[in-house]
Amino acid sequence: MENTNNNHHALNRIPASEHRIDESKICGQARHVVETLLKAGYEAYLVGGCVRDLVLGIEPKDFDVATNAHPEQICEHFSNSRLIGRRFRIVHVYFYRNNIEVSTFRAQTSQTKANSQSSTAGANGRILRDNTFGTIEEDAIRRDFTINALYYDIENSEVLDYCHGYQDLQARKICMIGNAETRYREDPVRMLRALRFHAKLDLAIQNETKGPIKPMGHLLSEIPPARLFDEVIKLFHSGYAVRCFQQLEKFDLLKVLFPITHEALNHDESFSSLIHNALKNTDARIRNGKSVNPAFIFAILLWRPYLQLLEQSNQQGIPHAEGAWSSGRTTVLDQSTVTSIPKRFSVTICEIWKLQNRFLKKRSHKSLRLISHPRFRAAYDFMCLRARSGELDEENCTWWTQIQTVSEQEQRKMVDQNNRKPRKRKNKQSL
Ligand code: ATP
Ligand code: MG
Repeated sequence: MENTNNNHHALNRIPASEHRIDESKICGQARHVVETLLKAGYEAYLVGGCVRDLVLGIEPKDFDVATNAHPEQICEHFSNSRLIGRRFRIVHVYFYRNNIEVSTFRAQTSQTKANSQSSTAGANGRILRDNTFGTIEEDAIRRDFTINALYYDIENSEVLDYCHGYQDLQARKICMIGNAETRYREDPVRMLRALRFHAKLDLAIQNETKGPIKPMGHLLSEIPPARLFDEVIKLFHSGYAVRCFQQLEKFDLLKVLFPITHEALNHDESFSSLIHNALKNTDARIRNGKSVNPAFIFAILLWRPYLQLLEQSNQQGIPHAEGAWSSGRTTVLDQSTVTSIPKRFSVTICEIWKLQNRFLKKRSHKSLRLISHPRFRAAYDFMCLRARSGELDEENCTWWTQIQTVSEQEQRKMVDQNNRKPRKRKNKQSL
């Protein structure tokens, strides 16, 4: 039976006395965009994740605006705007270090409408293109989850709810609008979004919405790799990467998104602990407002598959430097068939890996040149995580930590001291 429990609710207006949104959390630029469109005689609302977050009392990450103005009409009112998107034509209004996404109300594209000119579904039900303008109600029900289909009317300080989303948010539930299976087939990325909101907002996923994720997870492999890369980064940069990763494992999606990582993880406690520690670190950095680099996470997730290739190339007698580059390249290319990895990141990933070997060389003064390598920081953090996960002697991390804090003279002394120590047998992972 079609699950339509969330669909076609009458408009529910939630007044300020009830939703208690703190309007100071609304970004001034988003407010400016809405007010400009209102002044020009259009309807305009804040919409989506920002309204959800405002109701939850969380600072929204970005602000989206929905309006009945058409894309060209929107552009007329903002000199700092650009029409973007092939699948959906939306407008970005640019401000210093921020942009507000403005989209025209759009009608839901379902398979029943698939034959119309402006919306196209693939043979598997996936929406490939849709640009049918619609009413605000239609715009609401084409969104993914009820909690993401709320509108904020700035003029009246009211939340507008067409999909029962406000109550679901109060009940802390993630519910798909319409039939979950159909909606996942239209766009499998919604599965990743459900898991991300669950991990980040600590909301439960309603059973009907959760049920199809495992059996339908394989559909993610049909998503273009560039989009999957973006979605994966959103998971790992959500501030809740540890929980997102656990969700991916729980719903068998890791094997779809990171097949070689999944395979290497099998019974490898130390790799699992490396990933866990790295994601925990990422979460802490994000919470402390520090920068994070996608290359680092990919370097971690692909480390074991890379090592396996490197080991093979060592066994074949290929010189280390050559083997490291070719193993790195092959590993990155392999993953790129699922989630693309932009060139600037793949170069960094390979550098982080290649530098690992140099942390084991502490007996020559030349080895200290490593500290001034542009990738030293990332490679050093990577090496310390390896040490913490039991893959390397902790002493490596201590030594390289200390050497950064002492004078040049002291550095030389530290190297000389190493030369007085008897050589240890090479660590198993000293690749
Ligand atoms: P956040 O920005 O916190 O990651 P969000 O819900 O705002 O979460 P966005 O990607 O910014 O996510 O999208 C804005 C809104 O667009 C969503 O809230 C939802 O209403 C709609 N939306 C986004 N992606 C989809 C999708 N795949 N299917 C249907 N609606 C979507
Ligand atoms: Mg958003």
